[in-house]
Amino acid sequence: MDQTKQDEDYGYELFPERHEGMHKKSPFKEALTTFNHKCQFMLQVAMETSPYAKLLLSAMNNSGCKVSKDRHFSCEDCDGSVSGGFDAASSQVVLCQNNIHQQAHMNRVVTHELIHAFDHCRAHVDWFNNFRHLACSEIRAANLSGDCSFTNEASRFHLGLKEHHQECVRGRALRSILAVRKISREEAQKIVDEVFDSCFNDHAPFGRIPHSKKDAKFAYRDYMNRSRYYANL
Ligand SMILES: [Zn+2]
Repeated sequence: MDQTKQDEDYGYELFPERHEGMHKKSPFKEALTTFNHKCQFMLQVAMETSPYAKLLLSAMNNSGCKVSKDRHFSCEDCDGSVSGGFDAASSQVVLCQNNIHQQAHMNRVVTHELIHAFDHCRAHVDWFNNFRHLACSEIRAANLSGDCSFTNEASRFHLGLKEHHQECVRGRALRSILAVRKISREEAQKIVDEVFDSCFNDHAPFGRIPHSKKDAKFAYRDYMNRSRYYANL
């Protein structure tokens, strides 16, 4: 979870013109509508073309958690530089329309949040009280979404690919937990360390760590072949 959905009205007080009558055309409102349409469009593209997203959507469908674009996603304005979040209370993925401007970024956010949704679907995750559950899902999301395949080449060069990937996953999971829960860095670090190995090695539903779009395509093909095999039994 990059950020849980807050119970506030997304800073509408920052846009006073939105409170004026519907007849007056507000430039703010117009800009927001454009952002919303663009966000919806990029979401549709992600769901139809990203092999990461397609695999997760199929896996959730097969687990009895069919995902519908209108019910389970919401394009909204968010605070700061947050890109998205999974709201466990409503089983909705929040996409931050004001902070996602490129399709590649949208694909990664949709994938990251769908991994949380997948975990939510397959297990009884106690997001709010059990920090180990939250940490585990953040480790999986950072590991499997490609979040750590786009980071800088210099540190890859220094650490080697494998070690770099693990450190990136650890760091991202830690930051995600600290963004949504009021616990100390030391405490969060300890929890991430405790669950790291088992959660890092849990590659469901990918069956591998998809390091690139090509890997994700193979994982998707294998997943579809496996599910067809079981369906024919
Ligand atoms: Zn997350």
